[in-house]
Amino acid sequence: MTEKTLCPYCGVGCGLEVLPPAQPGKSVHRDSEGNPIWQVRGDRAHPSSKGMVCVKGATITESTHKNRLKYPLLRDSLDQPFRRVSWEEALTRLTDEIKKVSLTHGADGICMYGSGQFQTEDYYTAQKLLKGCLGTNNFDANSRLCMSSAVAGYMQSLGSDGPPCCYDDLEQTDCAFLIGTNTADCHPIVFNRLRKHHKRNRDVKMIVVDPRKTKTAEAADLHLAIKPGTDIDLMNGIAHLLLRWGKFESIFIDECTKGFPEFVEVIKQYPPELVARKCGIRIDHLEEAAQYWGDSERVLSLWSMGMNQSSEGTAKVRTLIDLHLMTGNIGKLGAGPFSLTGQPNAMGGREAGGLAHILPGYRVVKNPQHRAAVEQAWGLPEGRINPNPGRDGWDMIRGLETGEVGLFWVAATNPAVSMPDIERTKKALLKSNFTVCQDAYYPTETAGYAHLVLPASQWGEKTGAMTNSERVVTLCPAFRNPPGEAKADWEIFAAVGRRLGFEKEFNFANAAEVYQEFVGLTRDRVCDLSGLSHQRLREEGPIQWPCPEGETETISSGKRLYTNLHFPTADGRANFAGYHSRGLAEPEDENYPYVLTTGRLYGHWHTQTRTGNIPKITKMHPYPELEVHPRDAKKLGLEETKEEIWVEARSRRGKARLRVKITKAIAPGTVFIPMHWGALWADDAEANALTHPESCPSSKQPELKACAVQIIPI
Ligand code: SF4
Repeated sequence: MTEKTLCPYCGVGCGLEVLPPAQPGKSVHRDSEGNPIWQVRGDRAHPSSKGMVCVKGATITESTHKNRLKYPLLRDSLDQPFRRVSWEEALTRLTDEIKKVSLTHGADGICMYGSGQFQTEDYYTAQKLLKGCLGTNNFDANSRLCMSSAVAGYMQSLGSDGPPCCYDDLEQTDCAFLIGTNTADCHPIVFNRLRKHHKRNRDVKMIVVDPRKTKTAEAADLHLAIKPGTDIDLMNGIAHLLLRWGKFESIFIDECTKGFPEFVEVIKQYPPELVARKCGIRIDHLEEAAQYWGDSERVLSLWSMGMNQSSEGTAKVRTLIDLHLMTGNIGKLGAGPFSLTGQPNAMGGREAGGLAHILPGYRVVKNPQHRAAVEQAWGLPEGRINPNPGRDGWDMIRGLETGEVGLFWVAATNPAVSMPDIERTKKALLKSNFTVCQDAYYPTETAGYAHLVLPASQWGEKTGAMTNSERVVTLCPAFRNPPGEAKADWEIFAAVGRRLGFEKEFNFANAAEVYQEFVGLTRDRVCDLSGLSHQRLREEGPIQWPCPEGETETISSGKRLYTNLHFPTADGRANFAGYHSRGLAEPEDENYPYVLTTGRLYGHWHTQTRTGNIPKITKMHPYPELEVHPRDAKKLGLEETKEEIWVEARSRRGKARLRVKITKAIAPGTVFIPMHWGALWADDAEANALTHPESCPSSKQPELKACAVQIIPI
């Protein structure tokens, strides 16, 4: 039987069809090692991807049976080997540790670091356990490293999180402005849709802003290779020219926004000569970009980590939204600021309250009415939810350093590779009293620092919902059994909750019941999903939110937010911001003369837990390379030869040894390292050995995209 599901890699959220290894009359489908595996193909009926898939989605089943964790493992200290234990012993030990830390440290001594790989039911149950029953907001997710600046920017400018656009806009726009995103490699199917539209329509313009000449930039009409960290200068410079040319929407600005006069005072200070110099681009290229913005009826912006992973990430996102507000490019066909999320269900996590400062239904912990609504829904006494945001991901690492965090519970993610300043992170993990690593795979780098390892079931082995970047919710059904004794993440959280005495709160018979309770908490919110259920998603297929109760028409895509130009702020108006850039937190200097930027590759996914086991992908990207411009290579004495060239990149925090790729794709003065290689996959080639944890004061997202390094030939 064919099962319809969603690709569990990136936030594009492509629909997949999976078929059992054996089909009548056909030979058994096998991976390159001869193991029978489920077959995968794109789901033509899925509204977001229309049958398209990239190499990751197409090969997903080649990895899901490899390196699986099947049983709970326990040890008393990190220098001991693990021993296999029963779930009974594992959960007893875990709940004992929770009780102990609650007494010694208080509830805020407990932290959970989760993942955009969670299904919504996992996210929701974790919020109820931590924020509701245990009384700590110390739940954060790897989305903090991915798109929390987009969340903060949307909330501050538009009054609520939730991308206003949809993928249909990719085929309706006159001008696509891609900033800080290598969409061709990191969100390939979104890029395919945009690229086709761009190729078919000669009048459609594509501007790409990126210090690297990526595949995305190669397809652009205009590539602005700005100096790292000058995004705000560039966008203010574009706004300056639009103001000078009178290319702004005064009626929209007057009726639907506030703060424009103050914004004008800021952008007046960005004449083209200054901006071109700061950004390292030509004045005529800046003017060309402004002209495309000014002359286009519909401008659609796409961005991802290049904007978000910054010590001024929220300011960058808000400055981009300023451009949209100034030109009225929001709430209409083919236009708007569109954040591309990294993880497959980061959006579902945002809906379920899966960051340390938010609650289910796009609520915030600081708002007393929001806390009261959630407490009431959860049947908890008034005041149970802590009024202060919990620890963000990096703050959890700091809490391990100081001893304020007594229990660190990691689920479905690998912070021992993905956190900034990885040596400091590892030292902090070594100090942990008790670390739980809940994962589908073993070994992982983080499991090496765990006391208790819990086997989780994953994609295809548990049923749950996921929401992609364009707010389309897809049910991902279980179609095979989990290995060994693995359980769904939500089941593990619920079992712990029941053992801690919250029988009634976690009395869920299945994931459908969890989802039903969750969607009730979204009623009348911007992300209203109250009309959805597992049954409806199973029968009708993917559905885009908002989908309030009583909404019976199946709308699977094409919906935009704010089409009435009324925003969910106190007065219904969107807020202009107006920022001056502070630049990079750690700019290059005499001792560390290069700016390192990090990023992803087309084939690999995050820390390679899956893709590192897929031969087609490892062949495509066998090892990490440091990209350097020929001019810098010459300065460094790195001559192009047929031999491998190796260098050591050093920052103030650590070092990495890598092969060199000399390429004009990277701007002079900048070098690039991919982020996928942790200690298990390569010796001394970790990008995050070099990065620093300075983060955006508003979104708390670290500046993983830039730090100063020196390059030493070896
Ligand atoms: Fe999966 Fe993203 Fe590739 Fe689509 S674009 S198949 S969601 S990895």
